[in-house]
Amino acid sequence: MSDPGPLVFPSHPPVVAAVDGGGAFPVRRIFCVGKNYADHVAEMGGDARRDTPVFFTKAADCLVAPGAVPYPPRTDNLHFEGELVVALKAGGRDLAAEDAGALVFGCAAGCDLTRRDLQAQAKSAGAPWDMAKSFDASAPMAAIRKGPIAPGARLVTTVNDETRQDAALADMIWPAADVIAALSAFVELAAGDLIFTGTPAGVGRLARGDSVTVAIDGLPTLEFSIS
Ligand code: MN
Repeated sequence: MSDPGPLVFPSHPPVVAAVDGGGAFPVRRIFCVGKNYADHVAEMGGDARRDTPVFFTKAADCLVAPGAVPYPPRTDNLHFEGELVVALKAGGRDLAAEDAGALVFGCAAGCDLTRRDLQAQAKSAGAPWDMAKSFDASAPMAAIRKGPIAPGARLVTTVNDETRQDAALADMIWPAADVIAALSAFVELAAGDLIFTGTPAGVGRLARGDSVTVAIDGLPTLEFSIS
């Protein structure tokens, strides 16, 4: 392609995520997995058969650091979904699950905020989920800790100090390596990609003023409040 010339306005600053212990992880894309814990599939009225994972995306700039998250417009049913997030330092296509671990930079605690009312409308209309999932500040995430997740780690989500989700990461239908492999059959993964790996049962509604934590053993805890 020929050089199109100078930028017509300054380029946007890169989206970065904090790395525990220092450094900034440059975010490329945000992928998310739907239906990855059987008990959550059941609570949403689905079938937990181990089928191909459901993938969707959020725009990279949906990512927000811990702190205050504004209640989004155009919803009366904002839901939390506590999730393990996997951060990639390398990518590829058509990857094997046994090779996927080597691509992982680290992991973080995240929350896939969802306009559940809009998602339900989209599902019944056979329409895209984008405005239910990819909106400003819809992806709060704590700092990324380098390395793999501890075996036996649990994910616990609290709202106003009340436990709402408590699950073993081992209960994922598709473990992180399988998710990476399956996703790489659809897109060429690359360094900087984040993958929200799905939520266990217990999702629920958030209101202004609520305080949320997502704690995963061995990782910095995500804390944010809805303003
Ligand atoms: Mn989710």
